[in-house]
Amino acid sequence: MKRLPMIAGNWKMNTNLNEAVKLVNAMLPGMDKLKGVEKVVCPPFISLEAVKNILKGSSVKLGAQNLFYEEKGAYTGEISPLMLAGMCEYVIIGHSERRQYFGETDEIVNKKMKSAVKNGLKPIFCVGEKLEENEAGKTEVVLTRQVKACSDHDYFTHGAVIAYEPIWAIGTGLAATASQAQRTINFIRRLVTEQQGGDIGGAVRILYGGSVTAANIADFMKEPDVDGALVGGASLKSDDFLGIVRQASEIRG
Ligand code: PEP
Repeated sequence: MKRLPMIAGNWKMNTNLNEAVKLVNAMLPGMDKLKGVEKVVCPPFISLEAVKNILKGSSVKLGAQNLFYEEKGAYTGEISPLMLAGMCEYVIIGHSERRQYFGETDEIVNKKMKSAVKNGLKPIFCVGEKLEENEAGKTEVVLTRQVKACSDHDYFTHGAVIAYEPIWAIGTGLAATASQAQRTINFIRRLVTEQQGGDIGGAVRILYGGSVTAANIADFMKEPDVDGALVGGASLKSDDFLGIVRQASEIRG
């Protein structure tokens, strides 16, 4: 099944407004030309509008890094799906940093998924195991729990993408090997089909995330089940991110 590869940059809590504008302006001309790969940048909330205006008319899409599942009300400091609808196409949901530092449970992640899809936003749904779970051979158990928790709705026919991000590989410089990513992503595909029926698992795009750089992206893109990458650190340097997108486009575009 032909799936459009995707490279998404998660800027996390980096860049103020001026820096975000500078970063997107630096990467846009090179990135806009690259074909056969969907390109997404996910700046902090306060820069979404400025970055959206810069991306207007280009082939690069915008994503948010989070949302709250309620649509409005007394939730000080939160950002609702209604505020993001029409602003961006994608939203990262269930990133391990949100699960780890902000207490997001599988149940909360599922509520966010539901709220995003209801409001026309496409989730980049993050799953992944901790180092100790990996070492104890529990990767598949953890992934099954995380995917199953979000299987009561057809998110994947509404444009949701999965990002497999082993927590031990995020921001550590210790990326999974391409064959580890391939094996685990293939497992997730089979899991999705088992949960959702049809060949949803064959159709859904599944990215790898965790210390992806311009030096290792080619290995990941050569694996048949790996549809691209969610990139953290390397998405903050325009040349590095451009190098990642370029190679993804050359190998799979
Ligand atoms: C991420 O934030 O999703 C991520 C994968 O970060 P890094 O590329 O820095 O490991």
